[in-house]
Amino acid sequence: MGKLEAAEIIDQHRTFFLTGKTLDPAFRKEQLTSLKGMLKSYQQEIYHALKNDLNKSEYEAFTTELGYLYTDIDFALKHLKDWVSLEKVETPLTHKGSKSYIQKEPYGVTLIMAPWNYPLHLAIAPAIGAIAAGNTVVLKPSELTQSTSTILADMIRSTFDASYFTVVEGAKDVSQQLLEQRWDYIFFTGSTNVGKIVMEQASKHLTPVTLELGGKSPAIVDQDAKIDLAAKRIVWGKFTNAGQTCVAPDYVYVHEKVKLKLLRAMKKHIKSLYGKKPVQNYDYVRIVNKQHFDRLNAFMTDGEIIHGGEINEEKLTIEPTILDKINWDDAIMQEEIFGPLLPVMTFSSLDDLISEMKEMEKPLALYYFGENELKQQKLMLNVSFGGGCINDTLYHLANPHLPFGGVGNSGMGAYHGKYSFDTFSHRKSILKQTTKFDIPFRYPGGRLARAVIKRLMN
Ligand code: NAD
Repeated sequence: MGKLEAAEIIDQHRTFFLTGKTLDPAFRKEQLTSLKGMLKSYQQEIYHALKNDLNKSEYEAFTTELGYLYTDIDFALKHLKDWVSLEKVETPLTHKGSKSYIQKEPYGVTLIMAPWNYPLHLAIAPAIGAIAAGNTVVLKPSELTQSTSTILADMIRSTFDASYFTVVEGAKDVSQQLLEQRWDYIFFTGSTNVGKIVMEQASKHLTPVTLELGGKSPAIVDQDAKIDLAAKRIVWGKFTNAGQTCVAPDYVYVHEKVKLKLLRAMKKHIKSLYGKKPVQNYDYVRIVNKQHFDRLNAFMTDGEIIHGGEINEEKLTIEPTILDKINWDDAIMQEEIFGPLLPVMTFSSLDDLISEMKEMEKPLALYYFGENELKQQKLMLNVSFGGGCINDTLYHLANPHLPFGGVGNSGMGAYHGKYSFDTFSHRKSILKQTTKFDIPFRYPGGRLARAVIKRLMN
């Protein structure tokens, strides 16, 4: 794709947006309904693409990608009327006679850039918010999951007006062409490094951005935690999608007194969830490509493998693996792991751990396992991170009433449920003044104004 082509797509979208069609909530509802219908009718092709790209089973594809989208669309359809309605706010006494409200207006022409790890869900979920808020959408899927990218392009082309919702496929060069254009909003999901490029490019046009990035999200297991349950929930959160989940626990910090118990329980749960030979398992999710496979493999020389460690180079699968004797100097602790390797480290004092966490980059998620409410509150109050759970992993992102997003290095802005609509809407403040009377002291020069100002100044 050349510069001209990118500019042409945006021109067409802008022309469409300026017709005002998307301002009508009925139009938005129609589009959301078409989106749901599209996903339903392409369901088999979607399963096939996700199997091809990441070896996802139909069960995993439904529970981690498609199912969420159906729920998200239904939620938006149900609440859209409320979301678009004028939000009345109070007016102070000094503004007597006037009324104030906030009107939510679409930004206009939006760009959504998606990563490969949940290639369908992370492409369509932001689009639901963009459509609900009345924007047009240009979607750039990840080139690393080519089958899903192709099916996204095909189904969106056959369902939507190309000037309203378009998929542009391609690699880095295509992203760069797109980023040079003037957008009204950019929603990016991906790595922190590329997030910085997106923000830099957006700044040239003062385009607002949402950046959904990654980071090293800890799971902290305290000595009073229900260890077996903690182990089960960590294993599930870590190894779903073979660890290629932005909010997966990256590593475990366990209280030294319960370490052995936790390790034993985690091994047991890995076996019961993935069987004795996960890399041979027909439905075990694979690593997205050889480059990531090699990157992860290299980490296995860090510390000591106490569970797993088996790989299948042909299938690009890596067994759920637990690594012990890890410290912060190891290569595995220098970047987000994004794979089925779980380093375990110990702590002896939660206060010391909190001080350590406060010095680190803010992660996308944090999970704390422990029964003591004061300790829970202390950690939540003192450590900054995007979002997380007490006594669970991942579950927070499936609650549409919670905003989902990062902070600091893990991103900015948030979405899901109404927050998706808000993210893609400008909040326009309107004051409607009365013409029935006119308060004199607001104008300079009058005797009354002088008296009021004098009183206020004393
Ligand atoms: P990535 O940053 O490499 O790619 C994301 C998108 O950016 C792709 O569409 C890609 O084509 C494009 N891109 C890549 N390099 C570019 C460049 N130099 N200039 C312009 N565009 C470029 O990310 P990824 O590898 O696809 O995804 C993994 C990362 O995404 C992890 O860090 C993960 O934590 C993060 N992630 C975050 C969330 C979230 O919701 N916060 C969700 C999933 C993944």
